[in-house]
Amino acid sequence: MTKRVYNFYAGPATLPLPALKKAQKDLLDFKGTGMSLMEISHRSKEYAEVHAEASELVRKLMGVPDDYKILWLQGGASTQFYMVPLNLQQKGKSMEYVNTGAWSKKAIKEGGFYGDVKVVASSEDENFSYIPQNVEFSDNAAFAHITGNNTIYGTEFHEWPNVSDDVPLACDMSSDIMDKVIDPKKFGVIYAGAQKNIGPSGVTLVIVREDLLERVPENTPTMQKWKTHAAKDSLFNTGPCWAIYMCKLSLEHLKGLGGAPGIEKINRKKAKMIYDVIDKSDGFYKGHARLDSRSLMNITFNLSTPELEEKCVKEALTKGLIGLKGHRSVGGMRASIYNAMPLEGVQSLAEFLIEFQDDNQ
Ligand SMILES: *Cc1c(COP(=O)(O)O)cnc(C)c1O
Repeated sequence: MTKRVYNFYAGPATLPLPALKKAQKDLLDFKGTGMSLMEISHRSKEYAEVHAEASELVRKLMGVPDDYKILWLQGGASTQFYMVPLNLQQKGKSMEYVNTGAWSKKAIKEGGFYGDVKVVASSEDENFSYIPQNVEFSDNAAFAHITGNNTIYGTEFHEWPNVSDDVPLACDMSSDIMDKVIDPKKFGVIYAGAQKNIGPSGVTLVIVREDLLERVPENTPTMQKWKTHAAKDSLFNTGPCWAIYMCKLSLEHLKGLGGAPGIEKINRKKAKMIYDVIDKSDGFYKGHARLDSRSLMNITFNLSTPELEEKCVKEALTKGLIGLKGHRSVGGMRASIYNAMPLEGVQSLAEFLIEFQDDNQ
């Protein structure tokens, strides 16, 4: 067995080891077909099972009600930045966004191509170190849009903003999908690039309430309508079969952890381990996010100088702790501890950080 490191990359990110091993075992001969899953038809019986199981796992693990469709699409979360306004816009109604960072901004920019966009709240004044409180959307907006977790800054919504019954809430959950228990009924649409929390890159999960599928203008290009994909259970064209298969294996692992409640418990424990080190460091490590907005998934922090930060990242490498350099817009360090990061990985990081402080104070 080759050596595995603990990978704290922000995305694509670490996958559950059991999922990788299962994929490796099945690689050359999937279920006795004598072929890899990558080589067989997306209409085959063998793939149909994988496809259905992946969707069913999402439904079960997140408690998605029957009147929501589960879609597996391509183009990443970035494609949903325009598919959301394209599919949900309504003449004369504003599209309303909360700006909590670089990903929100990208979504807002795409919304602007379809009509009036209103940014109802922003945390840009303090380099996106917090989640705005008491956000208010208009009662007659076409939709409201938020970014559930801000991967770059390490902030996360812990309470969802209220929207009136007629306003669908759209949420980019690329970096917080299934990190905690949520009530999907609060949302009109949830979307997430799979590559952080539930699988590899190449597929995007979209969960959309059925009644919203009818809003899209008929003369919209076929592939850009959620409705097209919903009608064919995401098999309108050749989908990213391998990526969906890897999601299925990852989701099976998450099911084994106890579904959303079990995962949330572990995630809270993992995040606390690192935040505790930061909080007990007497300012040696300084967290970027405001305490009430701290992310369970991306922990961002700085040391006193860029030189010391570089040294810390380098020494971590020698311990098999990979991918801890922060994003350039915050600097410092970032530990991404998504659903698939084992507790032992976080434990190793916590121990390393304490040791590094002792050696460099
Ligand atoms: C990574 C990320 C994206 C980009 O996803 P792609 O699948 O690469 O388009 C969007 N939003 C958030 C919150 C992210 O973390």
